[in-house]
Amino acid sequence: MLKIKNLSTFYGKIEALKSVNINIKNNEIVAIIGNNGAGKTTLINTITGMVKPESGEILFNNLNITGEKPEEIVEKGIIQVPEGREIFNDLTVRENLELGAFTRFAKEGKETIEKDIEDIFLLFPFLKKRQKQIAGTLSGGEQQMLAIGRGLMAKPKLMLLDEPSLGLAPLIIKEVFSVVKNLKNKGTTFLIVEQNAVSALTNSDRAYIMELGKISMQGNSKDLLDNPKVQECFLGKKVKKGD
Ligand code: ATP
Repeated sequence: MLKIKNLSTFYGKIEALKSVNINIKNNEIVAIIGNNGAGKTTLINTITGMVKPESGEILFNNLNITGEKPEEIVEKGIIQVPEGREIFNDLTVRENLELGAFTRFAKEGKETIEKDIEDIFLLFPFLKKRQKQIAGTLSGGEQQMLAIGRGLMAKPKLMLLDEPSLGLAPLIIKEVFSVVKNLKNKGTTFLIVEQNAVSALTNSDRAYIMELGKISMQGNSKDLLDNPKVQECFLGKKVKKGD
């Protein structure tokens, strides 16, 4: 579904992505794990057209989308749920969901959008009860769910989640990932960038480890969870030789 080939992105002289290669198949949950400054957000912003790459190619369903404008990329079916959620704090829950469909309003009309909001309410029943609540007053976990719901209103084929577990309690993180798995079962593909390696590896099919702008390791998430180097560098485990 998404093929990233030799992608390099610079901020001035800083090379934030160094010839990155990533492959995501239809209906997978793929995680990118890395510490602060590894280049995870830059990768997402380059895919969504917010940042222009210096070189390399991004193919989405075999179409070259490298360097396209963000709104063209949204229309092709790639949606970003940004770090920190960035919901519209002063608007209601319902208004946030409506805004998620802004690219579809003109073509598809109000009735379709209202039906889609009802579908989001089936997925997140608490949002229905809170639809008139000002979004900024929701808890962190609720805001994350709203942000995912708002993203779904654009009918994405591929969702890019930037640090969905950031600032959330373990139980809420579990809930967020159970929603992600539910959506995967309904046909959405996910790329999730995370510092939280445990959450990312336990809830994804495959993962890439990113260090200083480069992919340093990749594999099945289960295998990476058992990998001594990953355990030492990202899971905080001291691994003795012979373990
Ligand atoms: P975090 O988890 O802290 O968000 P990250 O893995 O998402 O980190 P990026 O935000 O992509 O990392 O940053 C990668 C590198 O690019 C870092 O060295 C960062 O300082 C630099 N960088 C990011 N955004 C800019 C910018 N707008 N201008 C200049 N340098 C930037």
